[in-house]
Amino acid sequence: MKNNNELHYKFDISQFYSDFLKSPKIFKNRDALNPIYIPNNLPHRDVQIRRIAEITACLLKDGVPFNFLCYGKTGTGKASVIRFVSRKLDEKCNEIQRNRPWWIYNNCQQVNTPYRILANIFNTLSIEEKIPPTGLPKDIIFQKLLNLLDDVVGNSVCFIVLDEIDILIKKKGGNEILYDLTRLNEKYQLKKCRVRLIGISNILKFKSFLDPRVLSSFGGEELVFPAYNAEELTDILQERAEIAFFKNVVSEETIPLCAALAAKEHGDARNALQLLRKAGELAERNHNKKVSPKFVYKSQKSLEQDNTEQFIKSLPKQIQLVLCSIFLIAKHLPNLKIITGDIYDSNHIHSGRNFLHGSLHSTVPG
Ligand code: ADP
Ligand code: MG
Repeated sequence: MKNNNELHYKFDISQFYSDFLKSPKIFKNRDALNPIYIPNNLPHRDVQIRRIAEITACLLKDGVPFNFLCYGKTGTGKASVIRFVSRKLDEKCNEIQRNRPWWIYNNCQQVNTPYRILANIFNTLSIEEKIPPTGLPKDIIFQKLLNLLDDVVGNSVCFIVLDEIDILIKKKGGNEILYDLTRLNEKYQLKKCRVRLIGISNILKFKSFLDPRVLSSFGGEELVFPAYNAEELTDILQERAEIAFFKNVVSEETIPLCAALAAKEHGDARNALQLLRKAGELAERNHNKKVSPKFVYKSQKSLEQDNTEQFIKSLPKQIQLVLCSIFLIAKHLPNLKIITGDIYDSNHIHSGRNFLHGSLHSTVPG
């Protein structure tokens, strides 16, 4: 239910904008803290950048690189390193007037059915014709895709980057589509273009779910992205803060604090950057000239809330209900050691409205 403040408070948007304009200048370039921003320097990733550069360099002399896999927890720079190398390789190709390779990025969390993956590849390459979200038989899309690859990519290489490939593998038809993609060159007889796969996974043991034929097509070429420690995150944030904030706006302790908090989680650079961005926004909103540690703590609290909410919303209804049961039992009977039967009973008896609004005391043995 809305509280009284919400009911009677009238938000003056025009005044809000005027106040915002009067707030201190904090951000020089907000985009630099956006997760899709790729800086010109990626500290502590020289080993991985070098390895991918070595694998892909043969392209500059008419060679075809091999498929490879990247592993590491979220926010360890896997996608950024690949985008970074692709940008540098494109620049070099331009410099020596050679055809640039194509890079097709597919996030398997969002696009993970064989049909949608093929459609995504086709639609990225094709300017005029687009494949509809459903409807065409797989062999027709395949044929259309093969023709398009030869036409558009020509004698160059098309890299298909499959981010979060572990999600694809667990899906029905996941291994088959991967197998098909590894065989585009030989079995499906692409005439000119060569397709190469780059698999990215946040889960280290995902290979056990991979079809051995697909695994062997990656030829054992694997790159590991270790989690960042607090010092490494400090370097990353420091470089980014110089691009994103005006001089002397960020207090000295703020960046090491963001880095330490993110390192304690699991060394995720995305989290560290989010903490810093949100702290900056909070300072701005509070008309404060300095992004000080107190805004980092506030930012952490607000991000934790956002993440937990997002996570719970993404769970299946049954699991939400179990979680809700546990929460209500623990709230009403904090000293009770909860066992499965208690959850079952409260869920069963009070499912739906009654469960959410009713008292638990009568159902939980105490
Ligand atoms: P992953 O693919 O491993 O989940 P990303 O490449 O998406 O991680 O990185 C997450 C965020 O962290 C991005 O905003 C990226 O710019 C940043 N980042 C990760 N590693 C570095 C690094 N070494 N230097 C600068 N920024 C980095
Ligand atoms: Mg990622």
